[in-house]
Amino acid sequence: MKDDNCIFCKIANGAIPAATLYEDDDFRVILDLGPASRGHALILPKEHFADVTQLSSEVAAKVLPLAAKIGKAQMKGLGATAFNVVMNTGKDAGQTVFHFHTHIIPRYADGPSIAAWKPGTTTPEEMAETAGLISGAIDDQA
Ligand code: AMP
Ligand code: ZN
Repeated sequence: MKDDNCIFCKIANGAIPAATLYEDDDFRVILDLGPASRGHALILPKEHFADVTQLSSEVAAKVLPLAAKIGKAQMKGLGATAFNVVMNTGKDAGQTVFHFHTHIIPRYADGPSIAAWKPGTTTPEEMAETAGLISGAIDDQA
């Protein structure tokens, strides 16, 4: 399914040009217009899914192997020494485009530094309570 109002549907399906690194029947991989580092790439499925919770299992199964392929190419082609694979899910997580996409962000020994979270603290009791709240909310999925 394509969404006529979705910019990433248009880019993924070739209606709007983008710097394309890779394309197959299911995906287009492009350079991000506002890169966190040189070579920052976005994996866009050609089909419209709002976020990772909506993804079909067929497309989902192909995303991580493709992310690894792109990350390895960023290291080989650009001299990156590492990469981050990021999927922002929901506004409070920083998602701004509601067509599922995976960021592949190359990292280099000399930066740029990219903000990560500051480790907090917890207690065994709090961890047990929190784990119970999440595990109790996991839906049974056949
Ligand atoms: P997110 O904040 O996780 O939804 O990521 C959206 C990303 O898409 C951001 O990193 C933007 O810089 C990038 N972006 C938005 N519009 C375009 C575009 N037309 N071409 C390439 N990247 C884009
Ligand atoms: Zn879309």
